Amino acid sequence: MSDLDVHNLLASHNLRCTRPRVKLATLLFADGRDRHVTAEWAADALAKEGDEVALATVYNTLNSFVEAGLLRQISCQEAGRQVFDTNVEPHHHFYNEQTGELTDVPQNAFRFYKMPAAPDGAEIVDWQVTVTIRPH
Ligand SMILES: [Zn+2]
Repeated sequence: MSDLDVHNLLASHNLRCTRPRVKLATLLFADGRDRHVTAEWAADALAKEGDEVALATVYNTLNSFVEAGLLRQISCQEAGRQVFDTNVEPHHHFYNEQTGELTDVPQNAFRFYKMPAAPDGAEIVDWQVTVTIRPH
């Protein structure tokens, strides 16, 4: 993905091209691979490229990507941290308790025969399953 493509990606999601947004979008989307990242990982990866961005700025930027629909925030209590997913389609995860790695599982890989009703006055808008695994 070229610089122009990154600018177009941000613009198409109504995000102004600030320096941290361009740096993080390049890091996360340039190779087209899906990944699960933490803000700490992203800040480290930018620092290794010589781009120091404060961790708070990285968090704010990642959250602006979530609000814009570019990233999905996933609840992974097992991992004990906030994880951001470049795959924004509904899906589930394997969580490797030894390595901390998350692997995508397609939405249709699970069959549920019963889903609890949402509490009064609420509706279910999203749900995710995390299956914890370990090497044997
Ligand atoms: Zn995922």
